Amino acid sequence: MLEILTLGDERLKKHSILVPEFDGEIRLLAEQMFESMYQSKGIGLAAVQVGKLIRFFITHVEGDQPRVFINPEIVETSLDQELREEGCLSLPGLNSDVVRPSGVRVQAWNERGRPFTLEAESLLARVIHHELDHLNGVLFIDRLDAKKRERLIKRYDRQMQSS
Ligand code: ZN
Repeated sequence: MLEILTLGDERLKKHSILVPEFDGEIRLLAEQMFESMYQSKGIGLAAVQVGKLIRFFITHVEGDQPRVFINPEIVETSLDQELREEGCLSLPGLNSDVVRPSGVRVQAWNERGRPFTLEAESLLARVIHHELDHLNGVLFIDRLDAKKRERLIKRYDRQMQSS
């Protein structure tokens, strides 16, 4: 099992670098990340969350297939925005409403090195935005106003102390 890094780990604030090659290593990592994600009941996981600072994440939202995104790039985001509750495996127990574009078109490569373009809406779009943020060292709490962020971090610290 891969260990999932949590708030306070400096690696979560770092920019991830491009995946240099699509080899067996990346496929193995994808497999392990899916296992960890399912175990933790998550719907998305970025490589940086398991300590690998490469531009790579996975998703599996209800009603969709498991997906692998390597070196993803946003082609277009919708102008419409949506407020929706979010959580993160790196911030266990924390949830908050976050505003994000409701749709996204993203270009990436799968674990076999095949390029693809995907248009996503609603929950899948949200997860893609969330995971892309991870690749740039951004957590969902960084998208909140400072007061709300502080409140959440305090609550998180209290939870951590009592557990
Ligand atoms: Zn997350």
